[in-house]
This record gives sequence, C-alpha cells and structure tokens, in this order.
Amino acid sequence: MERKLQGQVAVVTGGTRGIGEAIMRRLAHEGAFVYATYHTSSERAKQLWEELNRDTYRVAFLHADVTDEKDVERCFATIQEEARRLDILVNNAGTTADRLVVRMSIEEWDRVLNTNLRGAFLWARTAVRLMLPQRYGRIINIGSVVGIMGNVGQANYAASKAGLIGLTRALAKELASRNILVNCVAPGYVETAMTEQLTEQQQKAIREAIPLGRVATPEEIAAVVSFLASPEASYITGQTIIVDGGLSL
Ligand code: NDP
Repeated sequence: MERKLQGQVAVVTGGTRGIGEAIMRRLAHEGAFVYATYHTSSERAKQLWEELNRDTYRVAFLHADVTDEKDVERCFATIQEEARRLDILVNNAGTTADRLVVRMSIEEWDRVLNTNLRGAFLWARTAVRLMLPQRYGRIINIGSVVGIMGNVGQANYAASKAGLIGLTRALAKELASRNILVNCVAPGYVETAMTEQLTEQQQKAIREAIPLGRVATPEEIAAVVSFLASPEASYITGQTIIVDGGLSL
C-alpha cells in the first residue's frame, strides 16, 4: 500500500477497538504517527502498543474521557510537546444508551449527547488550535446513518449523530479559508462487539434490510476515513459520506 500519510500526525479517539482500532491501524499503515485514545480499554491499549511498536514506533496511546475538557487539554499538550503538529483528527469515540423516549432518563440522554456530540466539539476546538497556524488539517467525524434515518429506541443516539452532521458543515465553513477540511463518515451496520451481541434472528433481519446483503467490516469504514484524510480528498469539505451497503436508500 502506498504510504500516502507519511510524516503526518493523527489522533483517533476510541482507537483501541472496533471501528476506531481499524482506523488507527490503517492510518499508521499509511505512514502517519497515530495517537489513539482509550477510556476503559487500558489492557487492550497495552497489548496494541506491544504489537504495533515491535518493529517501528508509530502509535502512542493516551488515556482520555472524551467528555472531559481537562483530559482533552492534557492530550493535546502531549501531542504539541512530542509531535509539534497535528494533521488529522478522527472523532470516533461513541456510545449508545438505547431506550424508547417515553422511558429514557435524562442521564441516558445527556451521556450519549455528551460523548458523541460534545466530545467531538471539544476535540475539534482544541485540535484546531494546532491546525490553524499550519494552515492544514483534516477533521473526520464518525456519524451514523441513524442520524439521517432515525431509529426506534435511539432518539438520543440519532440526535447526537444528526448533530455531528451540522457540526461538520458549520466547522467546514469556518475553517475552509485555512485549508482545514471537515467531513463526516456515516456507517450503517458494522461488524463490531456491538453488533455481535444481537441475536441470530436480529442479525438476519439486518442483513435482509441491506441491499448488499451483509454488514460492513471495520476496515471498510477505515478505508473511507483514510481517503478523506489523504491528498486525494483535497476538494471535499462539509460532506457526510454514507457507508451503509445501501441500507438508507
Ligand atoms: P465500540 O462500542 O466498539 O467502541 C466504542 C469506542 O468509543 C471505544 O474505543 C471506547 O473506548 C470509546 N468511548 C466510548 N465512550 C467514551 C468516552 N466517554 N471517552 C472516551 N472514549 C470513549 O464502537 P464501534 O467501533 O462500534 O463504533 C465507533 C464509532 O462508530 C462510534 O461513534 C459509533 O457510534 C459509530 N458507529 C458504529 C456503528 C456500528 O455498527 N458498530 C454504526 C454506525 C456508527 P474504551 O473502550 O477505551 O472505553
């Protein structure tokens, strides 16, 4: 594979499992030095550090709760001190707390909005401080087709992901003059720990609803993120790229 991100520095939030891990691996494979954040997966971060830095040092792991302003500041202070630049931010960390609205607690609403939307705002706001003086940057938010289609039991999640689309567009307009491009990738169903928990019957119903007849692999999402981070995507900003096998058609 062409090392099209050679010399660049990236941050991937929630970069030790699922889609975030695939994005971290892909960007590192393409030559970027990747800072991957983790919250509860500290053992996994340790394993990955040993695996990925065996030959060459190309990934670092930072502990952070994405909703905590102090953690965000501390991570960027480390990046500024060590790498002295930041080219790519991928806001991937996300959570769900599914329940019908009639029974949804304010805590469940706030937790999902805080992680998925406020978290992305905090990371983008801080990242931009490093990107503005460089007059270069790529911010990629991981949304969801649920933010476009809606879904029963996911009002909090759908609102947070729809909010990310608006955040993407507004930031794209604010930052275009400084050559900082901001886009959103909206996956449908992806094979991760989350989808593995579904019953065989639920998985069958999902496959039948998807024109391509299968869920995505995390690598298929990472491929689109990698494209948006690459020099080839130099004229794309403010967009939401749906990667759902046709589910939302
Ligand atoms: P997982 O549930 O496998 O992983 C969630 C990731 O987010 C973990 O790395 C976790 O870190 C991190 N995270 C959650 N809360 C916090 C927090 N408060 N602070 C810091 N990190 C946090 O998720 P997926 O890989 O399935 O999803 C990744 C993204 O893709 C999410 O934004 C999700 O909404 C989106 N998406 C997923 C789809 C799917 O089908 N899987 C479909 C569409 C969108 P840790 O493990 O360290 O706690």
